[in-house]
Amino acid sequence: MEIAIIAHDGKKADMVQFLNKNTAILQHIKIKLIATGTTGGKAEKAGFKVKKMLSGPMGGDAQIAARVAEGKTKMVLFFKDPLASHAHEVDINMLLRVCDVHNVPIATNEATAQLLLKAIELQS
Ligand code: PGA
Repeated sequence: MEIAIIAHDGKKADMVQFLNKNTAILQHIKIKLIATGTTGGKAEKAGFKVKKMLSGPMGGDAQIAARVAEGKTKMVLFFKDPLASHAHEVDINMLLRVCDVHNVPIATNEATAQLLLKAIELQS
């Protein structure tokens, strides 16, 4: 199952911590991680295998949206930073919209991401 992870700069450390906390679930259900470039780099450094897209501001969110539209990415865990503004806000909104169009679960904060991972663990 392909899951995308994305974290804004203020949330990247939280994302790495989240992945470490959920290593067992990630392995148990054989999740294939993809990520925007910088988030993916941090996850790799923490020892996770990740397929990296471009960095978010360079089109990485749009690439992930395309994979959602193509039916490849089945879930998106997006740690958004609501206290920062983003040059690529239109791409972020596009990703949210494409997930809604295709009924693909997208978490925009850690609490929801945790619930989603637990839910797919229960289903597996
Ligand atoms: P990044 O992109 O992981 O390349 O920083 C995240 C984003 O801002 O969408």
